[in-house]
Amino acid sequence: MDLRDSPDDAAFREEVRSWIADNLVGEFAAAGDVGGPGREHVGFDIRLAWEQVLGDAGWTCLDWPAEWGGRGATMAQQVIWNEEYVRSSCPARVGVFGEGLLGPTLIAYGTEEQKKRFLEPIRLGRELWCQGYSEPDAGSDLANVRTQAVLDGEEWVVTGQKVWTSLAQWADWCFVVARTERDSERHKGLSYLLVPMDQPGVQLRPITQITGTSEFNEVFFDGARTQKDMVVGEPGDGWRVALATLAFERGVALLGHQVHFARELDVVIDSARENGSAADPVFRQRLARAWATLSIMRMNILRSLRGLEGPIATPEASIAKLFWSTWHRDLGELAMDVLGVGATVAPGLPYELSDLQSLFLFSRADTIYGGSNEIQRNIVSERILGLPPEPKIPASKPDRTETGRTETDRKGEK
Ligand SMILES: Cc1cc2nc3c(=O)[nH]c(=O)nc-3n(C[C@H](O)[C@H](O)[C@H](O)COP(=O)(O)OP(=O)(O)OC[C@H]3O[C@@H](n4cnc5c(N)ncnc54)[C@H](O)[C@@H]3O)c2cc1C
Repeated sequence: MDLRDSPDDAAFREEVRSWIADNLVGEFAAAGDVGGPGREHVGFDIRLAWEQVLGDAGWTCLDWPAEWGGRGATMAQQVIWNEEYVRSSCPARVGVFGEGLLGPTLIAYGTEEQKKRFLEPIRLGRELWCQGYSEPDAGSDLANVRTQAVLDGEEWVVTGQKVWTSLAQWADWCFVVARTERDSERHKGLSYLLVPMDQPGVQLRPITQITGTSEFNEVFFDGARTQKDMVVGEPGDGWRVALATLAFERGVALLGHQVHFARELDVVIDSARENGSAADPVFRQRLARAWATLSIMRMNILRSLRGLEGPIATPEASIAKLFWSTWHRDLGELAMDVLGVGATVAPGLPYELSDLQSLFLFSRADTIYGGSNEIQRNIVSERILGLPPEPKIPASKPDRTETGRTETDRKGEK
């Protein structure tokens, strides 16, 4: 299979490179690839300004239809964009939830009014979103959502708790899965609501992670309000819409990941050269294996995305997620082994971490978010290998009933 760019794609790649070279200048160039997983707290203002530069120039929401301001970009073009973006060390994006998850959901399920109201501010980087799915008892088992919303005249009143809500501290709006039918159970009676964050009924509590940073939060809704028409799809039909959002998580970001991973691996290899561990046969094997596996990852992603338009199918997405998350977690462990005892010493107080320490700690999350490794394996075993479904636990233990079978479709969040 020929994995090189077609002539059209090569021209597109050239256009992307030239735009980035002309625009990633001044304070943006100085900021470099600031932010991203484990470092979301760094450089938010400059990243927001950059997001708006991208939006004004039409370099956000590439896959959206032209009608809604996108470019209707092919999968190959989206891959090229991601690859060049990371390779050029552009600042990490801040509008990913709106662009990648809510926007496509609204295009598919929103009313004309909702599309007109929300799509442009997302595309231009003027409104940021967060994802209010997970709760203390509803992670893999999303159908166990307990947050409630009731209609009070022309408004929904929302009460409950969300957790692990990434980037909520900067979000203007949250898309919330809430139970709107009293006494309903599991996936029935849920609705998909759009809730403004800046109001007295919404309280945030940042969660301090092992990295020392706080990228996600607990979000408490205590009588939070949103307009009656801020429901996507029909009231009570939120499960279908929630799953659609998850299906929009695409494989295109994976190549961006791959370039980023290659850069991290280079740092690990340089560290091994510097401290002499590269001479150790065991480290040499592990480093070579990491490099070879990363190359396989790249080729496999290119192969599976060739000629593909639209979201990648669930089983393939599960294999890709399982592969890259495990590889990245292992890279973090390899980095610590290469650094040896020095890995246990922070470069500065109170909790300053080197890039490799941060990589090690944050990559522990890779095998959890977006559907944990166990859940991905369940999908592979049931849908690809045709193995019997996992046993259901009797309904007397409601928190675990059908656990994972619901998550089977749940892989979109960051
Ligand atoms: C960095 C990060 C960012 C996140 N951002 C968001 C966000 O913005 N919005 C949001 O809504 N959520 C977010 N999440 C939450 C994420 O979706 C959940 O952590 C994930 O779905 C797992 O749920 P849980 O943490 O409740 O673990 P649980 O579901 O309680 O799982 C605990 C353990 O049991 C295993 N397990 C569960 N069910 C099964 C099963 N059926 N078979 C085998 N093993 C099983 C899991 O794999 C895991 O190891 C984020 C999480 C992380 C780590």
